[in-house]
Amino acid sequence: MKAHDGMYIGGEWRPAAGRDTIAVVNPADEQVIGHVPAGTPEDVDAAVRAARAAFPAWAATAPAERAARIGALRDVLVARQDEIAETITAELGSPLKFSRLVHAGVPPLVAGSYAELAAAHPFEETVGNSTVLSEPVGVVGAITPWNYPLHQIVAKVAPALAAGCTVVLKPAEDTPLTAQLFAEATADAGLPAGVFNLVTGVGPVAGQALAGHDGVDLVSFTGSTAVGRQIGAVAGAAVKRVALELGGKSANVILPSADLAKAVSVGVANVMGNSGQTCSAWTRMLVHRDQYDEAVGLAAAAATKYTPGERMGPLVNAKQLDRVRGYIEKGVEEGARLVAGGPEAPFERGYYVSPTVFADVTPDMTIAQEEIFGPVVSVIAYEDEEDALRIANGTVYGLGGAVWAGEESEAAAFARRMDTGQVDINGGRFNPLAPFGGYKQSGVGRELGSHGLAEYLQTKSLQF
Ligand code: NAD
Repeated sequence: MKAHDGMYIGGEWRPAAGRDTIAVVNPADEQVIGHVPAGTPEDVDAAVRAARAAFPAWAATAPAERAARIGALRDVLVARQDEIAETITAELGSPLKFSRLVHAGVPPLVAGSYAELAAAHPFEETVGNSTVLSEPVGVVGAITPWNYPLHQIVAKVAPALAAGCTVVLKPAEDTPLTAQLFAEATADAGLPAGVFNLVTGVGPVAGQALAGHDGVDLVSFTGSTAVGRQIGAVAGAAVKRVALELGGKSANVILPSADLAKAVSVGVANVMGNSGQTCSAWTRMLVHRDQYDEAVGLAAAAATKYTPGERMGPLVNAKQLDRVRGYIEKGVEEGARLVAGGPEAPFERGYYVSPTVFADVTPDMTIAQEEIFGPVVSVIAYEDEEDALRIANGTVYGLGGAVWAGEESEAAAFARRMDTGQVDINGGRFNPLAPFGGYKQSGVGRELGSHGLAEYLQTKSLQF
């Protein structure tokens, strides 16, 4: 993928208003692989105007035609799957196999699900003597992170388009090439000019300008809780719709009746996949006191299989590397016991961290409370089920989680008591139609499936 030196606005690549650029770095070898323009408030303004101009016609387009365009977008994403995987590996660093399977594999499923939902959704309903209309909210400002670069874009853009909204996207500065490739795909899919617009740039400039723009009706943000809080405040002051998908610190609860070896190995894989840079990763492994030593041994053995540079990629950038190593040092300082990995860099080049497992972690330690966003698992002992529940629910976050037990019904009964938005029962499979989003400080709103579509709709009722 060759970088574009402009912004995708109104159906064409236009020169950026400013001269600044952002260097895109391959985190595996620290080489610069391209440059993209750093957007200014002027670029954002031009993109919002284009989206506003395109809105009335797109909102009035029949849902079946919107569905056809989203279906065409899915087909382009499928046709360009290899290029997408290679681009994501180059700018995010994930192993090519993982990029093919997950980063390039999931977005067509999500786009396909919205092609179907757009065609089937009841945009008009009769309730007693009323007709209730579901209408698009308007112009969407979408701000996305780098960890699942294409998935995060598609999980916002596809439902917004299905609803009849138009979009301005400000992607993460670490992974702008994937976003440019997506913009090309929207053109290939025949989306009308101005329905999708892209402004690359840094968060505090282009992102902030988009979140605060008067011409944006809804801000959909995925990223850190710190930035989400600021965006929520700006949107609140403007009485603007906002969806926030934020951080997490999810628990993997292994009940005594579970298949311990399976629960530990799937749990470790869940964290090490994408080098621990998954917002809903099960970074706290909760194990009964009687099974604790065995679980720690299994976790350490499982982690060492994720060889950096082979099965596990680097972290996305030098700042994340410092942050994650800082957390590992903090864990040691606070008395946790390293049983795999550690803060030392495994290579001289590249932002790699070794897969790390801590034992003797107590629920109040920093590494058990704060989101690390790296390949670090904390194994925590619990005394009984009530204690496990207290620990599982004992953070400010509530995004994901897992429960393992001999019987699904036992695990599901525990999951019902967890304060979190998604729970996988005995390793349940990913479902692109299941709502994804957080309780507590993990966010506001839901993505995926019909719940994700509802975020981009507002209702009007006509009484007869
Ligand atoms: P981040 O908050 O730094 O950046 C996310 C996006 O916001 C980027 O596009 C960035 O440029 C932009 N941004 C930064 N400052 C801004 C500002 N002041 N105004 C407007 N936009 C701004 O987060 P990150 O480091 O890129 O991503 C990691 C975080 O994202 C983690 O905390 C992770 O848990 C979270 N995350 C959450 C989900 C979810 O679905 N809940 C999914 C993935 C990642």
